[in-house]
Amino acid sequence: MNIPDTATPLNGITNVRLPAWLLSAGWPLQAGEPVTADLRFEAGKIASVTPYQPDQNDLWNARGTLALPGLIEPHAHLDKTFTIARSRPSKPGLLVAIETMHQDRQHWTAGDLRQRARKALAWAAANGVVRLRTHIDWFDVVPPLAWLELADIAQAGVTLERVALAPLSLFADAGAADRIARAVAESGKHCLLGGFIHSSNWDPAAMRNLMQSASRWKLNLDLHIDEELSPVAHGLSWLARYLADNALSENKFSGHICCSHGCALASGSEHQAQEILSLLAAQRVTLIALPMTNLLLQDAVTGRTPRQRGITLLKEAQAAGVPLLLGCDNVQDAFCPAGSYDPLDTLSCALFALQLDDVFDQQSRLICDAGALTGEPQNDLPLTPGSDASLVLFPGSDSLTWPLHSAARLVIRHGRLTHQRTWNQELSHES
Ligand SMILES: [Zn+2]
Repeated sequence: MNIPDTATPLNGITNVRLPAWLLSAGWPLQAGEPVTADLRFEAGKIASVTPYQPDQNDLWNARGTLALPGLIEPHAHLDKTFTIARSRPSKPGLLVAIETMHQDRQHWTAGDLRQRARKALAWAAANGVVRLRTHIDWFDVVPPLAWLELADIAQAGVTLERVALAPLSLFADAGAADRIARAVAESGKHCLLGGFIHSSNWDPAAMRNLMQSASRWKLNLDLHIDEELSPVAHGLSWLARYLADNALSENKFSGHICCSHGCALASGSEHQAQEILSLLAAQRVTLIALPMTNLLLQDAVTGRTPRQRGITLLKEAQAAGVPLLLGCDNVQDAFCPAGSYDPLDTLSCALFALQLDDVFDQQSRLICDAGALTGEPQNDLPLTPGSDASLVLFPGSDSLTWPLHSAARLVIRHGRLTHQRTWNQELSHES
């Protein structure tokens, strides 16, 4: 495969293999797989997507290479990332990791925060991420330094969203809840309200304050909720019923909600889980599964092999119609010592942990569905005419191999090649 010149905008790509979930109904198949596609670009946008026709010499020939729309990283922690060398927890598990993180906060100067976050964004961009949502810990009702410092660390081609991650106890006072929500609302675009909701801090009055303050300030929510295996964790069941009970009220919450983790769904009864999932589906609440950190932090005891996986009920949520995404969560910090800001690594982990089928043609949607992240229906399907010509190609991979052995990458943003990571061996395998 010839690599196009990075300086010149492309007219488009011919003979590229897109996943089945992205293609229009009736797209032709060959040997059970979708035929390759021709994409035409115009001013950095998609002009058309049509089944492959030979001899389109003005387009770059991808020779059947797999491609996805720009990837989404829906759940990261840029304030904590890359601190593992100085912040290693003494014991496994979530609550010890939180304590260790608090000890590391003394090092979180402006320069330290910006340097670590910039490195994370550069890694994500090179892997093909176009949108990254980071949670940022709040320790008080006023924004922490990290909230301010990470506001303007733009990386070309990556939209950065910030979520104020405050423990539920900070919402116990209605006035404090309002001050937090107001500060987030006044922080500009791409800011959301979040919270850490766990049976160790459960407080339904604080939850009500959180929901009401988000509603008052017209904020979308992204909650760390039920990151535990307790069968009596309250967060998701309370939220599902609150939304259902208030659906017809004048003061109902009208923003979009993402719920991250939701591990406890896997510990309760099937009946209880089905009931919660159908209520969440009715309110278009998105569930974000975080397999890497859940496998590391749930059922974690020194010297003992974990017996439980700790991951939310992704297949049941898919069957119930709940929008879903997969995220990396922590990368190289007290919560998770490893990680790469590569959504393919997250999906590879999920493939085994969740026993996923048809990973390229169907489940790849879990790492590039911007509509599931934002709740904006116009973003339902990327790579449609008028949308950004931003996509990622995987030279040397195929639909059976992917996402493993697929580190090679060609990243196209707004119709232009911006990053490449390829090896001669893979290119010769292609040709
Ligand atoms: Zn998290």
